Amino acid sequence: MKKILILLCLFTAVAVFAEEAVPKNIILFIGDGMGFQHITAGKIAKGMLEMERCPVTGFVTTWSANQLVTDSAAGATALATGFKTSNGALAQDPDGKHLKTVLEEAEERGKATGLVATCGLSHATPAGFVAHAPSRSHRAEIVKQMAASDVDVLFGGDLDYFDPPPSTNVPAEKVETPLEVLEQKMTVVFSTEEFRKLGTPEQAAALLYPKHPPYAADREIPLTELTSKAIEILSKDEDGFFLMVEGSQIDWAGHKNNASNIVVETVDFDDAVGAGLDFAEKNGETLVIITADHETGGFAVLGGSIESNTIEKTAFATGGHTASMVPLLAYGPGSEAFNGVQDNTDVGKNLIRLIQSTQK
Ligand SMILES: [Zn+2]
Repeated sequence: MKKILILLCLFTAVAVFAEEAVPKNIILFIGDGMGFQHITAGKIAKGMLEMERCPVTGFVTTWSANQLVTDSAAGATALATGFKTSNGALAQDPDGKHLKTVLEEAEERGKATGLVATCGLSHATPAGFVAHAPSRSHRAEIVKQMAASDVDVLFGGDLDYFDPPPSTNVPAEKVETPLEVLEQKMTVVFSTEEFRKLGTPEQAAALLYPKHPPYAADREIPLTELTSKAIEILSKDEDGFFLMVEGSQIDWAGHKNNASNIVVETVDFDDAVGAGLDFAEKNGETLVIITADHETGGFAVLGGSIESNTIEKTAFATGGHTASMVPLLAYGPGSEAFNGVQDNTDVGKNLIRLIQSTQK
């Protein structure tokens, strides 16, 4: 009897020890095009990076279903759904089969959800979390699906897609614009002044630019402020939340082989990561993941100074993307699953598994 009791105690102890901590909230930060060297450049310029607060680190392979070098649509699909697709496709497989996203899984479990980006919201990365399309170029359709989805917070650009000019072929019945669909269910703001008076409504959209926002130096609202406001709104939901924040223009600076913009955009993104980690540290039930969809530019830092935080010599291998592995950093409950070398689909699968394990 005594032996059985001891064994029982042991089994219980092992079971408790082995149980994975499940986060109530997940914040996924995607630095578009942010490879190891982009982070290196950000660190040389800033000193200590916020993302260094993460205890878990990994490498992520990024190839798509049909190309060694992925684009942002296939990259977003892998991170959002756990499945590879062909370059250009959004949340559907190469045969056109619908793939459920982590944001949709979160919605089904009663969680609040949000998308924040420093690009137009119809662009590939935010689109891959709510829209299903064979091509990322179907931007009017993407915005329509986004407006019809259950997403609670949408901060970014692309007002022109949400509120297109009336068609010259006037349809027999008036069709609602995506903006009108949004306005029926949430507070929508269009300017910095309005954004700063937003408060914490249950659902909110900030369509701050007609198309894409400008580079970080010219954006009135830094990504960290957008991120903090999104967290403030979403964290009111007792069931928890899923938030994706994209530093979109790290990629564009890479395409232009512009090292100084890479630094400014990476630092702007890292500041936002700091806001996410501050919340996660206080909250204790939040998983924060920081990663990228691919590397852009084949970027290399070749000279500069740590003492003066300057970069003087850089090189680029391409004006496009590369097949390089990208970094992943993680903090909070569930973060251990993201340790080590993994595929981008493993990141998506683990995110979905953790959302599915959440108790409602
Ligand atoms: Zn790109």
